[in-house]
Amino acid sequence: MTTPARARLLDALRAAVGADALLCRAEELFVYECDGLTHHAARPFAVVLPRTSDEVVEIVRACAKAGVPFVPRGAGTGLSGGAVALADGVVIECARMNRVLEIDPVDRVAVVQPGVVNADLSKVAAPHGLHFAPDPSSQLACTIGGNVAENSGGPHTLKYGSTTAHVLALELVLADGDRVRIGSRAGGEPGYDLVGAVVGGEGTLGVVTEATLRLTPLPEAVETLLGIFPDVVSACHAVGAVIRSGLVPAALEIVDRRTIEAVEASVYAAGLPLDAGAVLIAELDGPAVALPRQVERVRALCARAGATRIEVARDADERQRFWKARKGAFGAMGRLAPDLYVHDAVVPRSKLPEVLAEICAIGDRHGLRLSNVFHAGDGNLHPNISFDRRDADEMARVLAAGTEILELCVRAGGVISGEHGIGTEKQDFMPLLFSPDDLGAMRRLRDAFDPDHRSNPGKIFPTTRACVESNPKARGYERVSFDA
Ligand SMILES: Cc1cc2nc3c(=O)[nH]c(=O)nc-3n(C[C@H](O)[C@H](O)[C@H](O)COP(=O)(O)OP(=O)(O)OC[C@H]3O[C@@H](n4cnc5c(N)ncnc54)[C@H](O)[C@@H]3O)c2cc1C
Repeated sequence: MTTPARARLLDALRAAVGADALLCRAEELFVYECDGLTHHAARPFAVVLPRTSDEVVEIVRACAKAGVPFVPRGAGTGLSGGAVALADGVVIECARMNRVLEIDPVDRVAVVQPGVVNADLSKVAAPHGLHFAPDPSSQLACTIGGNVAENSGGPHTLKYGSTTAHVLALELVLADGDRVRIGSRAGGEPGYDLVGAVVGGEGTLGVVTEATLRLTPLPEAVETLLGIFPDVVSACHAVGAVIRSGLVPAALEIVDRRTIEAVEASVYAAGLPLDAGAVLIAELDGPAVALPRQVERVRALCARAGATRIEVARDADERQRFWKARKGAFGAMGRLAPDLYVHDAVVPRSKLPEVLAEICAIGDRHGLRLSNVFHAGDGNLHPNISFDRRDADEMARVLAAGTEILELCVRAGGVISGEHGIGTEKQDFMPLLFSPDDLGAMRRLRDAFDPDHRSNPGKIFPTTRACVESNPKARGYERVSFDA
C-alpha cells in the first residue's frame, strides 16, 4: 500500500470507531503479532476495537475499499495461528463487543455479542439454572466469537458436544460489508446448514457480530473421581472400559506424570500424587438418585484397569481442586521452558493406548520434554512440547516431532485437529486428510461467502508449496510463509 493509501485507510477506520479504538503504533501492534502459537507471528497494519455491529460493517467496508484483508480476533488464546493478520491486514478485535443481550430461560437461549468471555456467559446464566456447556480450559479468557470460529471443545464436550451443538443462529458481517442472519432461534432451520459452515470456519467466512446460543440446564448432581494409575496407558484402558460399559460420563480427562510434576510445582498445585504415572479425572452428572451406582461402576472399572487408588471428591471445593489441576496444566508448563507447543489431534478411542505409547516414544527419540494432558473420552490428544524457540536445533526437532505425531494420528484413523483449528499451523497437513478435489470443494464454499478472500486469508488452505508437492497440477492456493 502506498503511504497516502495507508493514511486514507487509517482515517476511514478512525471515522468508523473513534480515535480511542484504533491502534496503529508499533508498540501497540506488538501484542497482536501472534496468538497462543507464538512461533507464527506477523505484525498487523492496524487494530480496531469496535463496540457494535454497525462499526464492524464500517470497518469491513473501509477494508474492502482499500483492498486490504481483515482478521476477526477475540482474546487471542487460539493455538493455531488463526487470529494473526497476514498480508498487512487489519485486526478486528471484538473484546469490547462483550454484552450479553438476552437470556431466555423458556427458550433456553442466550443472545450475545462475540466478545463475551466464555465463563462469564455461564455466570450470567447460572441464576436461571442454566449454563453454556462448551468449556475450553481457556474459558476464563477466550470469547464466544473465538469458540464459534474454532468450534471449540472442552472437558465436558464428551457428553454435551462441542460448540457447533450449541449455536442456533448467527449475525455475520461478510467481506463486502453486507450483514446477514443465518440459522434460527428455534434451531433446525431447513435447507443448507450455513451456521454449521461458519462454526469452525476460523473467521474465513466473515465476522460474527452476534450469536444466539443454546443454554443447558445445570445438572442436579455432580460426582468427580480421581483415578490414580501407574502409567498413562493403563489410564487409557480405563477410559475404554468406562465407555464400553455404556455409561455416558460428563468428562474423562487424563493428566500424565510430567504434567502432574509441573502442576504440583506451580500455583495450580492440587495435591496430585507425585508418584502417579497418570491420573484420570472422571466426572458424572445427572439426577442425584442415579449417581451413586455410576460412581461405584467407574470405581470398579478403574480398579480393574490397574488404578492403584481412586478418590471421590467429597464436596464442591475438592472437585474444584481436581479441575484446577487439569485446567491450570498449560499455565503450569510455563515453569518448564520459555515456550510451549500445544498439539491437538484426535484418534479413535480404541487406539489411545498404542498411540499414546508411540507419541511418548517420538518425544524421547527427538530428545524433547513432551507431556500429555487430554480429553481422553473424546480421543482428543494434546501432546505438549516444552521448548525454547531461540534454540534453532530444538525448534527443528519440535517441528519434526509434531509432523510425526500428526502422521501417526492419521495412520491410526484420526484427524489433525480436534478443537484448536488449522489456522497457519496445520494448513500444510491438510493434504494428509483431503484430496485436491476435497480442498477445491471447500474453497468453493469459501468463495461463496468471500470471493476475494479478504476475511482472514492465508488460513486453513495449504500453501502453494504443500499443494504442489502433493499434487503438481494444483494451482491458486494462498501463499504464506513464516520464520519458524
Ligand atoms: C491455556 C489454553 C487452554 C486451551 N484449552 C482449550 C480447550 O480446552 N478447548 C479448545 O477448544 N480450545 C482451547 N484452547 C484454544 C483457544 O482458547 C480456543 O480456540 C478459543 O476458542 C479461542 O478463543 P479466542 O477468543 O481467544 O479467539 P482468538 O484466538 O482471538 O481467535 C481464534 C479464531 O477465531 C476467529 N475469530 C475470533 N473472533 C471472531 C469473530 N467475532 N468472528 C469470526 N471469527 C472470529 C479468529 O479469526 C481466529 O481464527 C486453549 C488455549 C489456551 C491458551
